[in-house]
Amino acid sequence: LISLPESSRKGIRTEILCLFVSIILVLACNIRFWRAISAALSGGGNWLFLIDLGVLLIGLHWLALMLLANRWTLKPILSLLACLTAAAVYFMMKYGVFLDKAMIANILETDLREAGELVDWKMAAFIAALGVVPAILIWFVPVRRLGWKDALFIRAGFIAAALAVCVMAGWPILGRLIPIMRAHTEIRYLITPSNYIASTGRVVAGYWKRPAAAEQLRVTAPDARQVLQSGARRPRAIVLVLGETVRAQNWGLNGYARQTTPELAKRDVINFRNAGSCGTDTGTSVPCMFSEYGRRSFDQEKIHASESLLHVLARLKIDVSWLDNQTGCKGVCADAMFVDLSKETDPAFCNGKRCFDDILVKDLGKRIDGAKGDILIVLHMLGSHGPAYFERYPDTFRRFAPTCDTTDIGNCQAEALVNTYDNTILYTDHVVAKAIDALESIASHDVAMIYLSDHGESLGENGLFLHGAPYRIAPAEQTRVPFLLWFSRAFQGDLGFDAACMSERAAKEEISHDVLFHTMLRLFDVKTKSYEPSLDLLHGCSRQAAW
Ligand SMILES: [Zn+2]
Repeated sequence: LISLPESSRKGIRTEILCLFVSIILVLACNIRFWRAISAALSGGGNWLFLIDLGVLLIGLHWLALMLLANRWTLKPILSLLACLTAAAVYFMMKYGVFLDKAMIANILETDLREAGELVDWKMAAFIAALGVVPAILIWFVPVRRLGWKDALFIRAGFIAAALAVCVMAGWPILGRLIPIMRAHTEIRYLITPSNYIASTGRVVAGYWKRPAAAEQLRVTAPDARQVLQSGARRPRAIVLVLGETVRAQNWGLNGYARQTTPELAKRDVINFRNAGSCGTDTGTSVPCMFSEYGRRSFDQEKIHASESLLHVLARLKIDVSWLDNQTGCKGVCADAMFVDLSKETDPAFCNGKRCFDDILVKDLGKRIDGAKGDILIVLHMLGSHGPAYFERYPDTFRRFAPTCDTTDIGNCQAEALVNTYDNTILYTDHVVAKAIDALESIASHDVAMIYLSDHGESLGENGLFLHGAPYRIAPAEQTRVPFLLWFSRAFQGDLGFDAACMSERAAKEEISHDVLFHTMLRLFDVKTKSYEPSLDLLHGCSRQAAW
């Protein structure tokens, strides 16, 4: 071998530093993974299995680091890894989340205001101490430098050693490990940092494949046409209030011990008690409920690559608009339909940072009254979006107290957290009732309102907070949502509406977000082969024949 000057032989070998980092990652940053895998094990020999698995994971991370790290990339990679892993561990431990594709997409698609609400001092201190400080310290570690031939030779040797470690540790346990990972697919999203790295890769690959322009979307229901069933009917105006993070169990109309929906209870609404969401986060549920695939034939790639219900209706010259007080329409609306109300400045509803959901119904009547023909308005609420529940409602809605007036929700008393959350629902109740009242004063159209929430929320049950759990293992708190309809008398008359039939269905039938697409087609008299009567909420409860 070539002999090198003494100075470059000083310091730690890159490979040893990588091994050291791998050991820290696997042992210190994977507490939830180790808990989950231990819980999934049954029978004897568990300690040996866990030790083997630990060695295997260390070997795999070591291997990956050695393949990526060279003289120039080593320290930047380790610094980045330290900061991101500290943030990942904090989120996973605090909120009980899994860093799967949907969760990473949520994080990447969040806006600054949303992210700002999530960050508190505790989180900043945690990331600073366990991420930023190590990231800086790593630059002071002297690393041995060799000529490239020597370095390559030595690296090859270490890689062979790491491979041998993986094979020796992995071989005896694979027969037991594979069935466990198959039965509990969510556990892989706890292995840190590979969870967020792999999920980020999948999200970015998904963006890459997604059509860039609306014209590239696959046409949905190409045969769709509007056939007016009741002859020369009056134009129809439907308001779809798209709720946020409201769970079914805290919904007063569903029989919750507290009356969280006092205003809607006074109106003639049809409340569906048994409704399931398509996903556990906005980015999954919203595109899904507006697609013809739905949860029953869920395929996220196809959903993103296809036109939504709104595109179909707009093609039929129905006047569609999307009023937003949140983070956009998640690809389901065309640019021309989108109206961002979240940055309005009306001091009655906005504080310069955010607007309360009242902003959505402020001019609702005016928007419809002047319109010609059929019209659909989607109101995208901020609803009960956490963890800053206490910022979701004006002071007058702080009726359940004491409240949890911080984003550090894990530190609040469970009762205070539920109080705060219930206040957000009181306010949603008020906004939805106001939308109904605005519609009732409209003379030019037959009017209807649909309210549904995109997903639910965990408030600390089983250590889970917020939402976004992998759907397969998601608790009912995250997947059961309120869903209600309201029709004006004139609209009911035109539909040949059977109120008794509808209320029985609402009380008993199990429905999902999938009904939105088909019910909406029916309400606008759209005939297409894509329409499925079994997913039309009015089918069989209206004298007017279905297609
Ligand atoms: Zn949401």
